[in-house]
Amino acid sequence: MARYAYVNGRYVDHREASVHIEDRGYQLADGVYEVVGVRDGKLIDEKLHIDRLGRSLGELRIDWPVARPTLGFIIRELMRRNRLRDGLVYMQVTRGVARRDHAFPTKPVKPALVLTTKNSKRAEPDPGPGIAVKSHPDIRWERCDIKTVALLPNVLAKQAARESGAYEAWLVDGKGNVTEGASTNAWIVTKGGELVTRATDNAILAGITRHTLKVLAGDLQLKLVERPFTLAEAKDAKEAFITSATSFVTPVVKIDGDTVGDGKVGPTARRLREEYVRFAADGEAVT
Ligand code: PMP
Repeated sequence: MARYAYVNGRYVDHREASVHIEDRGYQLADGVYEVVGVRDGKLIDEKLHIDRLGRSLGELRIDWPVARPTLGFIIRELMRRNRLRDGLVYMQVTRGVARRDHAFPTKPVKPALVLTTKNSKRAEPDPGPGIAVKSHPDIRWERCDIKTVALLPNVLAKQAARESGAYEAWLVDGKGNVTEGASTNAWIVTKGGELVTRATDNAILAGITRHTLKVLAGDLQLKLVERPFTLAEAKDAKEAFITSATSFVTPVVKIDGDTVGDGKVGPTARRLREEYVRFAADGEAVT
C-alpha cells in the first residue's frame, strides 16, 4: 500500500514528497510543528494540539497555512489514505519559501504545510518494564514554550542518552533543576506521595499529555505540586515517569544508572498510565 504525505495542497507518495530548498524551515528552522497521538483510529486531544499549534504560529507571527477546519479535514483524509489506526500524525508549518535572508520575507509568502503519519504498536495500559534516562545540560534557548522545529539541542541530548543505553534525556538547567525530557515532560512521585512536575513557563513545552494527566490525577485525588525538582531529588524519589503524545505515561526506573525506588514500575505511574490509555481510548473514531 502506498503511504501518503500531504505537502502544500497535495497528497503525494511519501517516498517522493519534497519541499523547496529555500523553504525557511529547511534553511533557518523557521517553523513549528505538532504531533497528535492516534489510538485505535482516534486522535488524542486534537483540539488542544491544534490550539497549541495556533499559539506557536502566533508567537512567531506565521499565518495559519489553511483554515483550522481545513486542517482537521486534511488530518482525517491523510489518516484514511494511510489507514492509520495507531501511531501519530505529524504536522509542520514553516514561514514559507523565500530567497535566503534572516529577516522575514518583505513580500508576504504562503506558509508551507506538511503532514505525515507514522504507525506504531497500539499503546497498552501495561507500561512494560520502564525506561532509563540520562541527564544532560539544558543548552536550549529561552522560548522552549514554542514548539519549533529548531530541535538541535534536543537531538544531541537524545543521542547522548541513546549512546549510553538510556531511552530519554532529562535536561538540567543552570540551577540543577530538571526542566523536561528531550521530547517529553518529566515527573516524580516523592516519598511523601506528592506528584511533582515543573510548572509551565518559557523553560519548557506545555505538554498536552501533561495537561490531561493533571486532570486525571485530580480525578484520582492525587496531590499535585507544580515546582522544579533537582536530579538528586528525582533519584531519591519513589517513582518517576515521562509523558508525551507518543510515550503516553512511561515509567522511569533508572536515572544516570541509579535505580529509582526499588527499580520497578511503581503503582502511581502504573495507575496514571492505565487512566491515560482509558482516556485515549474514549475519543471519537476518525476512520
Ligand atoms: N517537551 C518537549 C520538549 C517535547 O518535544 C514534547 C513532545 N512534543 C513534550 C514535552 C510533550 O508534549 P506532548 O505531551 O504535547 O506531546
